[in-house]
Amino acid sequence: CALDPKATVSDTCASYSTIDGLNAALSPSLESLTRTTDFFSYYRLNLYNRVCPFWSDASGMCGNIACAVETLDNEDDIPEIWRAEELGKLEGPKAGHPGKKLQQERGDERPLLGELGENVGESCVVEYDDECDERDYCIPDDKGSSGKGDYVSLLNNPERFTGYDGLGSKQVWQSIYRENCFYKAQPAIHGVLDTSSAPNPAGQQAAIDLLSVMKEHGRQRALAKSGGAQPADESLEFDDGCLEKRVFYRIISGMHASISTHLCWDYLNQSTGRWGPNLQCYEDRLHKYPERISNLYFNYAVVLRAVAKLEGHLKGYTFCSGDLSQDRITKQMANDLAAKAAASPRIFDESLMFQDSSVEGLKHDFRNRFRNVSRLMDCVGCDKCRLWGKLQTAGYGAALKVLFEFDEFDQTKNPPLRRTELVALVNTLGRISHSLTASMNFRAMVEAKKNEM
Ligand code: FAD
Repeated sequence: CALDPKATVSDTCASYSTIDGLNAALSPSLESLTRTTDFFSYYRLNLYNRVCPFWSDASGMCGNIACAVETLDNEDDIPEIWRAEELGKLEGPKAGHPGKKLQQERGDERPLLGELGENVGESCVVEYDDECDERDYCIPDDKGSSGKGDYVSLLNNPERFTGYDGLGSKQVWQSIYRENCFYKAQPAIHGVLDTSSAPNPAGQQAAIDLLSVMKEHGRQRALAKSGGAQPADESLEFDDGCLEKRVFYRIISGMHASISTHLCWDYLNQSTGRWGPNLQCYEDRLHKYPERISNLYFNYAVVLRAVAKLEGHLKGYTFCSGDLSQDRITKQMANDLAAKAAASPRIFDESLMFQDSSVEGLKHDFRNRFRNVSRLMDCVGCDKCRLWGKLQTAGYGAALKVLFEFDEFDQTKNPPLRRTELVALVNTLGRISHSLTASMNFRAMVEAKKNEM
């Protein structure tokens, strides 16, 4: 059973218990960094000013209006506080982007990009024009939009159950898996795909092909259900099983598993109005699918390795929050975390990837597909989910950039790592770490339930 603590997280040499041990040792540092410092608890992103670039009337893949409106239409009947719209709202103070004028007024205290003083680091710049580097795995969040983003408090807006559900959320997940995960066409959601609205005959044919795959998949799921078996994620067929493609899929699936864990752990009981763990939710979404939990562990190994690789970079990093003593503490804590990560056993080895000459071009493809996943976050129809979805895709994007584009021993040629990338990376590790702890607690609850029976 893959939930056996001794089971290895395939593609890494570690067992669950090794990773649980590492997590127990590192989580206090991670927790204080993400919860007590301004630098890591405020995140800048563009939440509202971007439109979903994938489905519109023109693309014909989804009657976007149905995807977006579905949840809200059905919500009129439930009390206001339980509506996804209410639960998914952002809370707490949120500062607008200072803008160029304000930056100029602040003078040399907060220099503009390109005017860095000698001791001024990347994070002292109020990011104004995020230039996309070709080595980025994510698109900078405010690139190409009119708004310049907002600073959002991550502490005031915890990742938890929001009630975001229905066709809209499924469409996003399906698109992530279907369009971006290298495996053969995966069925879309019934009713969403409107073949007649595809923009041209080729688009219509593609939509029809997809519909027939959908029907077959529906038939297989029904068969699996009638036999009592769970339609497992392994039923998704990969075009081939090369390491890089598997890694890509596992990262996405592990991120999905982490989001599911958080919403099950901090769930709103709609009959009592109380928040707390929902064991049934965990059993339905994770426990029955050991490979999803394995992918969560895998992601911990991947992101931890990226943080470890940044040890040298962070030693020379200037933290700028406007409060010198807090900056000193933040730096100490960040260095401490990176040093602990670097001292832990190396369980994910990125040097094994993109080595084979037969997969030339794959890295480029890998990067582009990951950028697509980050673009898809603009299609998420709930503010809070979009916030955490964007942060985590940016975090994994930063991890991939560090893993595949950074030389940990020679810092001179490394691409710049923006403040938002660093904040996203550390908070993403924080999310996975929290999911591992929650998942362990859930497993104990499952055992306790078994013993009661
Ligand atoms: P979904 O989670 O929607 O999954 C769709 C399908 O994907 C499943 O039927 C299954 O076939 C497959 N699948 C599920 N998990 C995995 C996995 N780990 N690996 C591989 N395949 C898998 N809701 C909240 O309450 N709070 C949030 O913060 C939140 N954030 C979200 C962020 C994003 C980016 C998105 C797209 C959605 C978010 N949601 C959030 C919605 C939530 O993820 C679910 O979509 C929703 O709860 C409906 O769940 P579901 O059980 O129908 O299946």
